[in-house]
Amino acid sequence: MAKRDYYEVLGVSKDAQADEIKKAYRKLAMKYHPDKNPGNKEAEEKFKEIAEAYAILGDAQKREKYDRYGHAAENMGSGGFGGDPFGFGGGIDLSEALRQFMEQGFGGFGDIFGGGSSGSRRRGSRQKGSDLQIRLKLDLEEIATGTKKKIKVNKKIGCATCNGSGSAKYSKTIMCPVCKGSGEVRNVSQSLFGQFVNISTCQRCNGEGQIIENPCATCAGEGRVNGTKTIEVNIPAGVKTGNYIPLNGEGHSGLRGGPAGDLIVHIEEKSHRIFDRRGDDVILVLPISFPDAALGANIEIPTLTGKAKLTVSPGTQSGKILRMRGKGIPHLNGAGIGDQLVQVQVYVPTKLSQQEKKLLAELKESENLKPGDNTHKNVFEKFKEALNF
Ligand SMILES: [Zn+2]
Ligand SMILES: [Zn+2]
Repeated sequence: MAKRDYYEVLGVSKDAQADEIKKAYRKLAMKYHPDKNPGNKEAEEKFKEIAEAYAILGDAQKREKYDRYGHAAENMGSGGFGGDPFGFGGGIDLSEALRQFMEQGFGGFGDIFGGGSSGSRRRGSRQKGSDLQIRLKLDLEEIATGTKKKIKVNKKIGCATCNGSGSAKYSKTIMCPVCKGSGEVRNVSQSLFGQFVNISTCQRCNGEGQIIENPCATCAGEGRVNGTKTIEVNIPAGVKTGNYIPLNGEGHSGLRGGPAGDLIVHIEEKSHRIFDRRGDDVILVLPISFPDAALGANIEIPTLTGKAKLTVSPGTQSGKILRMRGKGIPHLNGAGIGDQLVQVQVYVPTKLSQQEKKLLAELKESENLKPGDNTHKNVFEKFKEALNF
């Protein structure tokens, strides 16, 4: 499918100012945010498209190249957008789109777009740790009841030796020798598109303009070290793949005592051995014996929350769907629980003893066991019913 023009996507003109683009993005992203449109695939696609458009038009350099070359710039490697904007092979996935939205909402601009509108960081500002993204796989049973999960996370944690300061005892801070205290370095480079002056954050001091004379030996002056932490996450009932749970301050520790980033837990639903989920209903195909179907029966069958009794009426046809109210998955937002839909399949035996064969042969002669004139219509109705669920 051909990509739409990014200006068209955001509904702005080609000569729109940066803050006009920013406003348009926020407004649209808010409207199509998955939280506001649960289960709406179309809104999700829109949301991703908006995010992708903004990743380009919200960045002065990328926008300039897009203006000259259009979508072709995305395939120009380092001459174009420098790979693709997100490292996702041209597209953008939902978690990345959500992350961008959150960074816009809470963290301001700059860091994720690298060399974008905000330039280098303010001197001396404490640098926030980056966010962590993890995937959490859940069984349908866990989703049906809600659960608590302990997750072990590898991340940067505060250095105990220096208490996160990054500084050895009695050390002082001095001006950064590389950027002479400005926090930024200027590079002039020649490229296919002319001369670029690229101002970037000083790597030596991370834009702070000053460095520690004697860094802490344990963390090499970072104020943080590699570590692990076990975190307990509460999962509400009714979640599904694509939902995420943000945990504030559970991401990587910041540099030298800066605030920690967030941990974003992305929910992934495991496929189930016997149940199939449709929205908040679950479907179970249930083999029953011919006598049970003919005579009726009370059968104990599995549900996501344990065993339950199912009443099969006498004369139940193969393919019939029985609804067990409230035996499905609770709705995530709001009251109510989905149903369990049980499709009955009459089981035909494949192994028979001599005695069983004899009994069946006797039954075979009985008029009531022969499919009547209405059978074709009946079977067809069941077939249609099954197709619709
Ligand atoms: Zn340290
Ligand atoms: Zn520096």
